[in-house]
Amino acid sequence: MTYAADGLAALEAQLQQDLEYLELPAKSWVPERTQDGAPVRDVVVIGAGMCGLAAVAKLQFSGISNVVAYDAAPAGLEGPWVTFARMETLRSPKSLQGPALGMAQLTFRAWFTAQWGKEAWQALDKIPKAQWMDYLIWYRKVLNLPVRNNVRVTHIGFAGDLIALDVSGAETGRIYTRRLVLATGRSGLGGFAVPDFLQGISRQFWAHSADDIDFSALKGKRIAVIGAGASSMDNAATALENGAGAVDLLIRRKQMPRINKMTGIGSQGVVHGMHQLPDAWKWKFVDYTATTQTPPPRSSTLRVSRHANARFLLNCGIKAVKQEADGLLIETTQGALRYDYLIAATGFSNDFHDRPEFAALAPHIRSWRDGRYQPEMGAPRANLLEAPDLGPAFEFRELTSGACPLLAHIHCFNDAAMLTHGKVSGDIPAVSAGADRLVRGITASLFAEDVEQHYANLQAFDTPELQGDEWVDSTPLLNQENAQ
Ligand SMILES: Cc1cc2nc3c(=O)[nH]c(=O)nc-3n(C[C@H](O)[C@H](O)[C@H](O)COP(=O)(O)OP(=O)(O)OC[C@H]3O[C@@H](n4cnc5c(N)ncnc54)[C@H](O)[C@@H]3O)c2cc1C
Repeated sequence: MTYAADGLAALEAQLQQDLEYLELPAKSWVPERTQDGAPVRDVVVIGAGMCGLAAVAKLQFSGISNVVAYDAAPAGLEGPWVTFARMETLRSPKSLQGPALGMAQLTFRAWFTAQWGKEAWQALDKIPKAQWMDYLIWYRKVLNLPVRNNVRVTHIGFAGDLIALDVSGAETGRIYTRRLVLATGRSGLGGFAVPDFLQGISRQFWAHSADDIDFSALKGKRIAVIGAGASSMDNAATALENGAGAVDLLIRRKQMPRINKMTGIGSQGVVHGMHQLPDAWKWKFVDYTATTQTPPPRSSTLRVSRHANARFLLNCGIKAVKQEADGLLIETTQGALRYDYLIAATGFSNDFHDRPEFAALAPHIRSWRDGRYQPEMGAPRANLLEAPDLGPAFEFRELTSGACPLLAHIHCFNDAAMLTHGKVSGDIPAVSAGADRLVRGITASLFAEDVEQHYANLQAFDTPELQGDEWVDSTPLLNQENAQ
């Protein structure tokens, strides 16, 4: 493909013009604050993956300019795309709006077409994952977003009416902020979901699919991969392509899931309507989708099955895993199987207690288990029960009223919000709608919190619009006329 740097420059110029026409970013309006002589941020965003970037961009567009996003990863390595995502292309269709926030010039399509032209766009099937990362890097650059990389937020605490963050890495110390957004990704609030049968098994013999796995070390080895989802396929394929001796997919189900249900009904109705539904309906949708399961993409599945040394073992539930001197003995519903290494593509959990930076918050966070779930909704499902019970702008709610009121200033803008808000804070399709919902809520709450100051500003404002020479008071004339 030919690359046209001038095409990109033209797009960027057009974008700047559109921003100017729309008066974006809007003028700053949040009063400045200090704490112990240090400036206080209006909003800090933890995470500068796609959701963090969209949130920061939308905050800036809305005139909330004293904002920063911290990411523990180096610049250009945020999120899964060029780290632990092992697919070749995105699953999502190429034409999605993604984080474009309603601006045509900010879409992946505009970025791609500006460089490689319309024919290349027509020829493109799915977006290569590294190219999606390149687009996110451009998005951040072209909007000049305030992101600090190599900075990990290690502790979230409170100081009066502010949130106090401890950071380490390229920046160290304590940061104060009025609002906090957790754009911390798919592992969101928890971490890896690890099945009980792997507890106590040495990490020498297994990895989670989101771990940094040395696939070259698996050359010639017998590998088991648990699961039938996208990550199972991507990890199995990567092992096979790196010369694994044999790879078995251990799949509990009798059939492969084949229909992508939620994508099938995707619409603006789902995006904007799901979070307004009664809880029982929210549960029903998410529970049904979890029961029917999202299939792995066809291309990822073919990437595995094209290898003669790959096996799909269906109806193969794991009963127990035993560690031996040189490998694993796995008791399955199909009998005992021996492997050198296992990859658990078992997803992520919402258990807030798993992440040290959330330790001070975790005991106060109200989840669906704490009253929002009712048995009539259907069978209890552990990962749905763990989901945080969020307010309309993704803000946490307290388990005990009054025990941690500042939770209302911490917004859970990640995958864990799905049960309350629908899929608007994790996947590409509706992230702009999610960022819009988040920022409207933050805008309203900052304005309300400063209402006295805004009212004082109203009273103090004394720049005349009229100079006094635009009219003449005709009442004296009228009085004279009336007197005659
Ligand atoms: C393997 C894989 C493939 C996927 N493929 C697709 C796809 O094709 N289409 C799709 O729509 N979605 C896909 N997803 C979902 C995907 O996660 C999201 O679309 C996207 O990454 C969400 O962006 P995010 O900002 O929420 O999270 P992420 O991109 O994961 O970013 C979160 C960031 O938070 C940072 N962070 C976390 N904790 C801290 C801390 N304490 N301090 C500082 N920084 C911190 C991390 O370093 C990370 O960079 C995929 C997910 C995975 C795991």
